[in-house]
Amino acid sequence: MGMVIGLTVLIGLLGSLMLRELTLRQRLLAIVSSREAEFRLLAEASNDMVSRIAFDGTLTYVSPASLRVLGWPPESLVGGNALAGLNPEDRAAVEGVVAALKTGEREEAMIAYRTRHRNTGTVWLESSLSVTRDPKTGRVDGVVAISRDVTEHKQLEGHLSRLATLDSLTGLANRRFLDDRAERELAIARQSRSDVSLLLIDADHFKAFNDHYGHLAGDNCLQQIAAVIQSHATRPSDLAARYGGEEFALLLAETNLAGARVVAERIRSAVQELSIPHVGNSAAPVVTISIGIATAGSQAGWPSLKGLIAQADETLYRAKSDGRNCVGNDLPLHEAPPIQPGQAPPPTAPASQADQTAPR
Ligand code: GH3
Ligand code: MG
Ligand code: MG
Repeated sequence: MGMVIGLTVLIGLLGSLMLRELTLRQRLLAIVSSREAEFRLLAEASNDMVSRIAFDGTLTYVSPASLRVLGWPPESLVGGNALAGLNPEDRAAVEGVVAALKTGEREEAMIAYRTRHRNTGTVWLESSLSVTRDPKTGRVDGVVAISRDVTEHKQLEGHLSRLATLDSLTGLANRRFLDDRAERELAIARQSRSDVSLLLIDADHFKAFNDHYGHLAGDNCLQQIAAVIQSHATRPSDLAARYGGEEFALLLAETNLAGARVVAERIRSAVQELSIPHVGNSAAPVVTISIGIATAGSQAGWPSLKGLIAQADETLYRAKSDGRNCVGNDLPLHEAPPIQPGQAPPPTAPASQADQTAPR
């Protein structure tokens, strides 16, 4: 009797335990499915594309906004890889962020990258990523991504940054951009004990040119001079800039004085060869320029940018007082005569290691 009563009580207890477990599960399921419904409701009403990505990168859910954002309906994307169509240039950055999310190093991330739109080609997307975790194990099991098209924003950004760094008349870099780059190149040169040269280039008797041919012709002439200077900025690290008015600058990294003089002489003769008539020029019947050079390096040391510009200004002044249409000499005048038009420049000193891109 005792055993029967004991077993009945035990069965009753087990039964009620199972019942509790079952009710709990049902409640949990109800919560999950109501959350799921909420998630879908929000995702499907959003203008942004919402997607769920599994741990292996497969898209398990994509909201209808994909049609607008990527040109594809959700059903064409689900089951595919979330990184399909990603621009190769952005792949490394995106994969870095994904890896940090997968390892749990980051819970959230915001990334901008280029990808392919079915109809319009490349688009910029900005995605806000949040990891999702398995409720049982707590392990990262995927990512929810909210992505929006920021192509217009990026284009505007590019346009604004071009406006902020370019001179509108000539398309060369402006003074501010030159200053930033020159500071950076000087710091690199100082640290690596290498050379960096700066050419200051000034149109000769340009006031007289404007007075005789008009301001518009003057503008056009400045554009042609700028194009010549730009064509001599042959290495990726070279920077041609409009210094202001009828003055230009060319920054030459990893270039010693002799190398800079070769470039300067080439630019001087190329401008003369444009053969733009200039009756008010005492140096020649055509438009000419005078050039000042300053070189920072193991020989002269590494001055501040201000010091480098002052040095280039001084040699430019010498070029002007030596009759214009020439490259000013940075040595005291009695030690070395200025290079005269047509005269061969001195031989280039042995190229430094970084001169390998284009010999000077
Ligand atoms: P120098 O040979 O000594 O350099 O004589 P210069 O006449 O060139 O020098 P100055 O500094 O007396 O005059 C510079 C002239 O450059 C005056 C100015 O009208 C002209 N200039 C400056 N900026 C522009 C521009 O954007 N467009 C035009 N057309 N002319 C400009
Ligand atoms: Mg001037
Ligand atoms: Mg001038």
